[in-house]
Amino acid sequence: MATPDLTVHGAGIFGLSIAWTALQRGATVRVVEAARIGAGSSGGIVGALAPHVPENWNSKKAFQLDCLLGAENWWAQVQSAGGTDPMYARTGRLQPIADEAALALAHARADTAKTLWQGRADWQIIPTTGSAWEPHSLSGWLIHDTLTARLHPRAACAALVAAITAKGGEIILGDAPPTTGSQVWATGYAGLLDASHGRTRPIGTGVKGQAAALQYNAATLPQIFTDGLHIIGHGDGTVAIGSTSERDWTDPTSTDAQLDTLIAKARAALPCLATAPVAERWAGIRPRSRSRAPMLGAWPDRPDHFIANGGFKIGFGMATGVAACMVDLVLDGRDTIPDDFRIAASI
Ligand SMILES: Cc1cc2nc3c(=O)[nH]c(=O)nc-3n(C[C@H](O)[C@H](O)[C@H](O)COP(=O)(O)OP(=O)(O)OC[C@H]3O[C@@H](n4cnc5c(N)ncnc54)[C@H](O)[C@@H]3O)c2cc1C
Repeated sequence: MATPDLTVHGAGIFGLSIAWTALQRGATVRVVEAARIGAGSSGGIVGALAPHVPENWNSKKAFQLDCLLGAENWWAQVQSAGGTDPMYARTGRLQPIADEAALALAHARADTAKTLWQGRADWQIIPTTGSAWEPHSLSGWLIHDTLTARLHPRAACAALVAAITAKGGEIILGDAPPTTGSQVWATGYAGLLDASHGRTRPIGTGVKGQAAALQYNAATLPQIFTDGLHIIGHGDGTVAIGSTSERDWTDPTSTDAQLDTLIAKARAALPCLATAPVAERWAGIRPRSRSRAPMLGAWPDRPDHFIANGGFKIGFGMATGVAACMVDLVLDGRDTIPDDFRIAASI
């Protein structure tokens, strides 16, 4: 390829989504990945696309809602272009309701969801049924939202690679010759360290997360969120259990007793998982900007260089919208980045 219009550094969910969106808008694109596809936090196993609670509305929640509502179509296009399944499904989600106060709050949120979710998804209060795939609820009631979806992180990255390649994009692993033209740095935790260099305080940090996959088929069943645990049936016959949140860590990829505790909690919450074998234990480092929001925009003092980082705990949920904003900015010079997501918010 001659000099591409856009070089994207980093083949995690942010970089790949940006590359795919730019190709769809007619640009020539090269992705340069230092290690391998999904080498960072995008190479994991969790993949919840879960909404914020429908209250105290702000631009971050509105942005994420747009992403979630558009995700089904977006991922269908990726699959159709490249022929690889990202394992997306809008399965909905169940959450237990602890007591009368929580029940009243859940009803209030059901009302606000009617407006805020634009009639395109529901936040319902339903009675427990005693099904094996249901969290225990002290009140006998559950929240069932119909917005929550999931994809498999690795499958989603593979689907994007296939779509990018099918559309003529180039992906280079390892060393690549430097290019001129626009450069987007979607390099996750390493990128936060890099962009912090020479500043008086870091613009972000890495928060480790451990997760597990159990061998159990719940592919068509709703996600469960209980006691801080995400329990997600994937299309490959595994159930993901996530995740720890560790600010102090030394080894980015090791798993330990904290994950054993998580697995035990999941088995206690859903006894049908009691004998499901552990298929995988995994850990990664979530890139967290100082503002905790995605961190998007032109790299200060580096002409033609841009940063897309800070996916933190919801990078997969936000990636479609992040990609649209970044491509608006880099290709068209249009700034559609929400104020909370600007790099200035983390400097
Ligand atoms: C345990 C866990 C559970 C999670 N669960 C969810 C979830 O349920 N839902 C959700 O939405 N999100 C979840 N996340 C968060 C999500 O995984 C991240 O927000 C997202 O992966 C960040 O993607 P990224 O592309 O910015 O970074 P990364 O995936 O880290 O990608 C950065 C890439 O850049 C490469 N790179 C680094 N330096 C260079 C360089 N100089 N040149 C070229 N390439 C370079 C790296 O090798 C890497 O491949 C979870 C994260 C963890 C750890």
